[in-house]
Amino acid sequence: MNSKIAFITGVTGQDGAYLSKFLLEKGYEVHGLLRRSASADVVGSRLKWLGIADKIVLHDGNLTDLSGLIRVLQEVRPAEVYNLAAQSFVKSSWQQPLLTGNVTGMGAANVLEAVRIACPETRFYQASSSEMFGLIQEPIQSEKTPFYPRSPYAAAKLYAHWMTVNYRESFGLHASSGILFNHESPLRGIEFVTRKITDGVARIKLGLQEKLALGNLDAKRDWGHARDYVEAMWLMVQQDTASDYVVATGKTVSVRDFCKFAFEHAGLDMEDHVSVDERFLRPAEVEVLHGNPTKAKEKLGWEAKTSLKELVIEMVEADLERVRRDQHL
Ligand code: NDP
Ligand code: GDP
Repeated sequence: MNSKIAFITGVTGQDGAYLSKFLLEKGYEVHGLLRRSASADVVGSRLKWLGIADKIVLHDGNLTDLSGLIRVLQEVRPAEVYNLAAQSFVKSSWQQPLLTGNVTGMGAANVLEAVRIACPETRFYQASSSEMFGLIQEPIQSEKTPFYPRSPYAAAKLYAHWMTVNYRESFGLHASSGILFNHESPLRGIEFVTRKITDGVARIKLGLQEKLALGNLDAKRDWGHARDYVEAMWLMVQQDTASDYVVATGKTVSVRDFCKFAFEHAGLDMEDHVSVDERFLRPAEVEVLHGNPTKAKEKLGWEAKTSLKELVIEMVEADLERVRRDQHL
């Protein structure tokens, strides 16, 4: 067991929870940034779900508050910082473009600044996104594919990505950017299409609702499991030289097919339940994302382990259990 200290922003999110569990199992002391909420009991629900809430040291703070970030890093002195915090929902970024810019873009610059000032030897990981490829410039996207962001979220992530590259090149920080394609799990936020579908399937199966309204069923994504993807983050940080990596499964599937698998697993036919509602369409769509994870495989020895069908089954089963428990069924 080593006694390394890791500091995670976004520790209460999907990836923060899985990464914390992964690092605890590796013997790390895990610290996380917690943005204050009047609903503190709800905020830690993912960490509780994984049974690790009491194993993490939480520090009050916000990605938009630079002096607070500097103070907490001076106090914790982590060996590794993982910047996972963001306003992460693409659709909301059109409703809150400036907040998204402040948190998802400038927030990352704040963390980089705090590392540079408080602990420049600390290794840094930035949670970049395949959304930066947006209107794709190549059918399969790698680290060399030009970017074309299609939302305020993607534009903010692109700024954070280039700041990470720039701080590596300007100040010699060990700063890596993981360009992660969509990754899901039972802990995915309910507003994202995969969880919305598996939660809807569970409610329909248990007789609590009849219909599920979705947006663009033809959009295609390269979906993996968050549990697999957090390992790639850690591997990047362990390399002698910091760099940027695409993390993906290398397979792309439509929302319609994801939906079909989820309904089928519950013994249902999506045609009987799914409708398209314009409210869930986007001002500018990312029609297809398809990653090429060759560099991650060759340099990190990383590969996605969970198949799409295994992911769908795990999510549907977890939602069935959650809905039964919540509804006392
Ligand atoms: P989540 O939305 O589940 O988690 C986001 C986290 O950021 C939460 O802990 C949230 O806190 C925190 N946060 C939001 N605003 C602030 C703020 N102002 N100050 C401090 N913390 C804040 O995201 P995921 O876990 O799914 O994703 C992790 C990161 O990876 C994100 O940056 C996301 O954009 C990026 N990413 C995700 C992909 C995916 O498919 N999941 C794909 C590519 C990139 P709270 O709990 O209080 O809301
Ligand atoms: P994103 O790739 O980060 O935007 O992740 P989402 O899960 O939010 O969306 C993935 C794709 O599913 C996008 O192309 C959406 O347009 C599409 N989609 C179709 N219906 C829905 C829906 O009801 N909700 C969400 N969130 N996305 C939907």
